[in-house]
Amino acid sequence: MRKTNYSPIIFLFFFLFSLLFSIQGQTLSKKIDRKDLKQYVSKLASPALEGRRTGSEGKRLAAEYIAEQFRRLGLETRLEEFSLTESYRGETYLETASGKRFKDYEEIMFQGTNYYNEEVEKEVVFGGYGRPEELESIDLKGRIVLIFSVDHKTGVEAYSLLRKTEAEGLIVVPVDRPARFDAERDRMKEYTLRHRFFMPNDPNAFVQPIALDTMRFLNSYVLRVAVVKELMGMPENKLEQYIKTNKITDVPVVPVKIKFERAQKEVTTANVVGLLPGKSEETIVVSAHYDHLGKKEAHYYPGADDNASGVAGMLELAEAFAGRKDLPYTLLFLAFAAEEEGLVGSKWHVNHPDFKAENVFCNLNMDMISRVDAEHETAENYIYCLGSDRFPQLHDVLLKADSLYDDCFIDYSLNQTGGMFSLYSMTDSYNFVQKGVPALFFTSGLHPDYHKTTDTADKINYRLLESRVRQIGLVLELLQQIQEN
Ligand SMILES: [Zn+2]
Repeated sequence: MRKTNYSPIIFLFFFLFSLLFSIQGQTLSKKIDRKDLKQYVSKLASPALEGRRTGSEGKRLAAEYIAEQFRRLGLETRLEEFSLTESYRGETYLETASGKRFKDYEEIMFQGTNYYNEEVEKEVVFGGYGRPEELESIDLKGRIVLIFSVDHKTGVEAYSLLRKTEAEGLIVVPVDRPARFDAERDRMKEYTLRHRFFMPNDPNAFVQPIALDTMRFLNSYVLRVAVVKELMGMPENKLEQYIKTNKITDVPVVPVKIKFERAQKEVTTANVVGLLPGKSEETIVVSAHYDHLGKKEAHYYPGADDNASGVAGMLELAEAFAGRKDLPYTLLFLAFAAEEEGLVGSKWHVNHPDFKAENVFCNLNMDMISRVDAEHETAENYIYCLGSDRFPQLHDVLLKADSLYDDCFIDYSLNQTGGMFSLYSMTDSYNFVQKGVPALFFTSGLHPDYHKTTDTADKINYRLLESRVRQIGLVLELLQQIQEN
């Protein structure tokens, strides 16, 4: 509670305002209903929508579904379509002299960023255990050096030596621990083969670990021990003999053919917009991203909390306000595409020439609002709000809204997660902030099903979701009052 050092008249004003507001608030609350929320979440997280991956049919169906809801509510509905470049690893193999093709992630794993989009011919030279004296003894120029790794350091050390030479690449054969191939594959495969999306002409949208990228001017490959013979023309124990007798230079160089394709194609995706005009053109943007991670082999990522819950909240708020002709502010309900690809949909929206930052009063964004994180197991009806520490006028509104609604409490503690990579800076809200628009980000935080195929609709707490959306609805209602002052 605030300290009441107001004069009695001001106090009376606040009291009347609160009373008036609590009546409006109750009407609003009644319209936000867990049955509707459940219906929205169930639909968006259903198998038919295939995890709503950017560029997929499931995502297109999700956009269509959201647009359909906006139209049903009488909002001015449109799609903000835009194209993205989809980039992914294409055909990738190493072919031996005898014509046997080792496929990526089957017999060999490709790591690196020096692509061969067309098949090239290279030579593989044997480098023993990759020790400095061994590497010095062989002709490295333009060749791929195959070494036996005898402990976890071998490959790393050979790599850092070879990157200073004219060698073309490094093949590591984990003779010490053949199972390392499978362990490595399980660790890397999903990340490596993941399709990336970025805006044409926007290299920043294509997030890559920069330090790693500049280091890795050599491709490295991990080869299954079992196929060494097929590649080198002799089994590994014979090769070991050459090492033992200091004669690795006698091992014949073998020719190979390699293809390592970086494929690209253009895909179209869309933000979905529903506009509810107010008396002023000044707009409050209520947003949530609707895309998610798609499918992984036989399974799909339902993304029920991430972010069917936020979209459901946005749709339910649209429903609660739809039909109101007296709104001071225009409300723009906005479902963002391609958030999972690096906040691309919101970035596109705020960079479009039609976007006028001076006409946007603020943004309220919801992402993952239906679960309980580890910090709140005993006080589960909370909602984190981030960004209010930067915008005191919004913070006052939040305090007021929180005091008017007992059920849910607003937790500001994530505001303190600072630094360059603060949570706030990794949200769609932040793209508004960068254009000078105040923005609030609402979330219930992380949980063990985050970005897993287990983020399913049956784990959603609809009672909490309803309560949280009501709380956000009160914030929205109070924001509407501000202009009257
Ligand atoms: Zn996500």
